[in-house]
Amino acid sequence: MPQKYIVVTGGVLSGIGKGIFSASLARLLKDSGINVNILKIDPYLNVDAGTMNPNQHGEVFVTEDGYEADLDLGHYERFLGINVSRNNNITAGQIYLSVIQREREGKYLGSTVQIVPHVTSEIKDRIKSMSGDLLVIEIGGTVGDIEGEVFLEAVRELAFEVGRENFLFAHVTYVPYLRTTNEFKTKPTQQSAQLLRKIGIHPDTIVVRTESPIDANSLYKVALFSGVPRNMVINLPDTPNVYEVPNILHSLGLHELVAKKLNLEIKDNFTWSFPKSFELLKIAIVGKYLGTDDAYKSIIESIYLSGSQKPVVVDAQELEEMTDEQTKTYLDQFDALIIPGGFGRRGIEGKIKAIKYARENKKPILGICLGMQLMAIEFARNVGGFENANSTEFDPETPYPIVNMMESQKKVLKLGGTMRLGAQKTIIEKGTLLSRIYDGEEVVYERHRHRYEVDVEAFPQLFKKPGEEGYKLIISAKSDFVEAIELEDHPFFVGIQYHPEYKTKVGMPHPLFKALVEIAGGKKI
Ligand code: GLN
Repeated sequence: MPQKYIVVTGGVLSGIGKGIFSASLARLLKDSGINVNILKIDPYLNVDAGTMNPNQHGEVFVTEDGYEADLDLGHYERFLGINVSRNNNITAGQIYLSVIQREREGKYLGSTVQIVPHVTSEIKDRIKSMSGDLLVIEIGGTVGDIEGEVFLEAVRELAFEVGRENFLFAHVTYVPYLRTTNEFKTKPTQQSAQLLRKIGIHPDTIVVRTESPIDANSLYKVALFSGVPRNMVINLPDTPNVYEVPNILHSLGLHELVAKKLNLEIKDNFTWSFPKSFELLKIAIVGKYLGTDDAYKSIIESIYLSGSQKPVVVDAQELEEMTDEQTKTYLDQFDALIIPGGFGRRGIEGKIKAIKYARENKKPILGICLGMQLMAIEFARNVGGFENANSTEFDPETPYPIVNMMESQKKVLKLGGTMRLGAQKTIIEKGTLLSRIYDGEEVVYERHRHRYEVDVEAFPQLFKKPGEEGYKLIISAKSDFVEAIELEDHPFFVGIQYHPEYKTKVGMPHPLFKALVEIAGGKKI
C-alpha cells in the first residue's frame, strides 16, 4: 500500500493535459529517487477502453498484459520508461461490475448496497492495492461531472484515513485569454476550485494551463480566491511539444514543493532527455480516424521520438476518389507512409491504393496490424492476380480470403477484451530486413490486438522464406501466425501483425520506427 498520494483533478475543460502533467510529475519524482507508481481513474461505465471509438476517445493503448486502456497509460509508459499493466487503470465500469457481482454472490448479505460506503470502499481497496511508495492518481474528466463524484468522494475519504499530510491534491485548470479585452479570465478556475472545496477537497496546488504565459496578478487572484498559497499556483503555458513539460516542472522546482508538502526526502537526479533536432521528413499516416490526432497517438509519438517531425494523418477515403495518377501526385510529397491498425470497411480501398503506390514506387511503408493484412491483400490482388482478394472482415463472400478470422476467435461471442491481446512471443527470421532492424534478435515480445490473420497456407504461391526465389512476400517473423512480411528490392516495405507503437519510450523509440525514419531520411540499414 502506498504511503503517499498525489491526486490530480481537472477543472474548467477536459483535454488540457492532465495526463501529460501527471506523467511529467511522476517522472520528476521518479528522478528524485522516489518509488513512484501511477494510476488513471476513468469515470466512464465501459469496463475498459477496448470497445470505444478512437474518433471519440483517442487510441486504445494496449499494455504488455493485454489490457485495452485509455491513451493516458501510453503517456505514463513513454514518460516514465516503464511498462504498466491493467492494475494501472480503474474504470467506473470495473468498480460497479465488481460490486454488483459481489452482491449477487451474497457477499454483502443483509446490507443495502449503496454508493457510499460500498462503491467508495471498492474504489479505495483498488487504490490501496497498488504498489510503490508514492502513488500519482489522475482522475479523468472535470470536477463537477456526475460520474466522477464517487471517485472524488473515495479519495477524500482515503485522505482522511491515511492522514491529510500524506496527500497532495493538484488541480489542473484552464484560464482563457480574452483577446477583445486583452486579459486572462480566472473566474472559471476560481469556481472550479470552489466546487472541489464544496465536496471536501481543498487543493494544495493549482496548475494553471494557458495558451501563453499568464501575468503574476492573475495568478495571485487564483491563489487568493481558491485559498492556495501563491507559491503553489503554477502556470503551464502551451509548449510546442509535450516533452518540454518535465523540464518546465523541474525548473519551477515542483519536485521540491511536493517533497516539502509530503515530507519526502529527495535527491535530484533528473535525467530527462528527448530528441530536440528533427529530420524534416514528411511522413503520412493513411488513416480513417480524422477528428483528432489522439486516435493515432502512439504512432505519432513514436515517429517524433525517433527524431522526425510529427507525421500527418491523411484521409484514406479521399484516395478512393482519385485516379492512380492523382494518387501518385498526392503521395509523392511524402517521404514515407504508415498504414495504421483499424477495424471495419471504411477507407480500406484507399489504404490498399496507398500500398500499391508505395510498392510500385519504392516508397518506404510500414503496415501495422490491419496495415499488414492490407499489404497481403494488395499483393494477392495486384501481383498474384487474385481478383477481389480480401479479408473476411470486409467481404465475407470474397473468393480469395487471404485474411481470415483466427480459428480461436470463431468461438468468441462477446466483444469486450476478447481479441488476441498483449505481448506475444514472436520469432524473427534471420536474413531479413526485420532481423537487421532488431539487431539480430531472434525472439521478441510484441503487443497485439487483432482477430484476423493472414492465411499463408491457403495462398502458398504468394509467400516465401528469406532467400527463396521469386517476387513474393517474405515471411520475416512468425508465432503461431504470420507476424511480419516484407519485400526485397524495396527500401522498406514492412508489415507487422503487432503494434510496435505501444513499446516506444522517451529516449528508446521502437526500432521499427527508428528504422523507418532513418530509411525515409535516405540512410541504409
Ligand atoms: N481488424 C483487424 C483484426 O481484427 C486489424 C486489427 C488492428 O489493426 N488492430 O485483425
